[in-house]
Amino acid sequence: MNHTLLERRFNTLGPYTPLFYDQPLEFVSASGVWLTDVNGDRYLDAYNNVPHVGHAHPHVVEAIRSQASALNIHTRYLNDRVVEYAENLLATFDRRLDRVMFTNSGSESNDLAFRIANQHTGHTGVLVSDFSYHGHTRALAEVTTGLRCDEGIGNHVRTIRIPDLDGADLGRSESEVLTESLGEVDSAIASLQEHGFGVSAVLFDSLFSTEGLNRVPGGYVKGLADRVRAAGGLVIGDEVQSGFGRTASAFWGHQNHRIVPDLVTLGKPMGNGHPLGGVVLPAALLDEFGPRNMYFNTFGGNPVSAAAGQAVLDVMEAEDLMARAAATSRVVREQLELLRTKHDHIGPIKGTGLFFGFEVFSGPVSESASRPDAERTKRIVERMRRDRVLISRIGRDDSVLKMRPPLALTIGEAEMFLDRLFAAIQAVA
Ligand code: PMP
Repeated sequence: MNHTLLERRFNTLGPYTPLFYDQPLEFVSASGVWLTDVNGDRYLDAYNNVPHVGHAHPHVVEAIRSQASALNIHTRYLNDRVVEYAENLLATFDRRLDRVMFTNSGSESNDLAFRIANQHTGHTGVLVSDFSYHGHTRALAEVTTGLRCDEGIGNHVRTIRIPDLDGADLGRSESEVLTESLGEVDSAIASLQEHGFGVSAVLFDSLFSTEGLNRVPGGYVKGLADRVRAAGGLVIGDEVQSGFGRTASAFWGHQNHRIVPDLVTLGKPMGNGHPLGGVVLPAALLDEFGPRNMYFNTFGGNPVSAAAGQAVLDVMEAEDLMARAAATSRVVREQLELLRTKHDHIGPIKGTGLFFGFEVFSGPVSESASRPDAERTKRIVERMRRDRVLISRIGRDDSVLKMRPPLALTIGEAEMFLDRLFAAIQAVA
């Protein structure tokens, strides 16, 4: 490890922005799902969703290069590329979602969605999961429940526990869990109303990724959305994690729950690493917000960003990435189910498509004395690093392995990944 560089980082950026691993890695190049470090060692990337169609994908790189060498400028001039990208992006959504406001990040998108919801409803109350993360602006710091955040939850915020049939609610009847969880939503809404905040919005991630890839009862998300709407609020679907075909079963995560949000927020994979985000919404909502609030974003949706975003859509289609992700994820899931039969301290396989994981326990899952085991999970992550595979962990107890490779992962690479995962599980068993 480069101690001098680490020290220089601390002396400039400070020691508080997170770095992965006890011995942080320093990469210099990448291609597909492979990263190369300063020593020339190659790592299989089973963690990063930002390089969605693969690291340094030639088509994306060329689209950025060629647009940057022709024109890059702020967003107050007409530009064909920007409009064409907006049209193509909107074509992936339900017809009701027919406008897009471009931003540069997931945080900006969620912050803007909150503003639109506040304005539309005249209310400020917000519902969020009690273990989630949606960004770093002030408004989002006030709803941050899943990361350290000293600002504290806002008075206008009510948190709800997201059920998990493969986690905290394992073994319980689905209908009982559904009734109980929606009852909690009703109480949270009633509390917001009693305290005069009203309901402005619910903000949720369709994959419940920070929470630990919760499997919710069928109808839970729809029930949540219906209740918020009945109280006059809007539904904000955060697709930063679950969007762009990550789940392989649908292009947008909310489609897996059979709902259409009022506002959809985008980020991370949208530009394959180039900063690009957006809020997708019906024209009626934009027409209400727009005349009263000039939305001008210097960089959000500039021609180079639009070229990057369009290139991501192009590659997804040309390489049939969603279908490939579906096929690869089937192999992965089958193999993980097999692994489970050999190791009794592994919980149910969680996640959808190419975002998957499982909880690691201190003993057999069937024994009530067994507990989520953060230490053992960490050892698996570190052992995988030693074997040059990148993964991480999530969840309330930091005990759910988080595996989320670029969609470009091939079946051969998935098998390589699984071999090393099996060895790591064996080694720390
Ligand atoms: N929403 C979700 C679900 C996220 O996971 C994140 C980032 N981890 C964000 C929003 C914030 O995105 P950004 O870091 O681009 O601001």
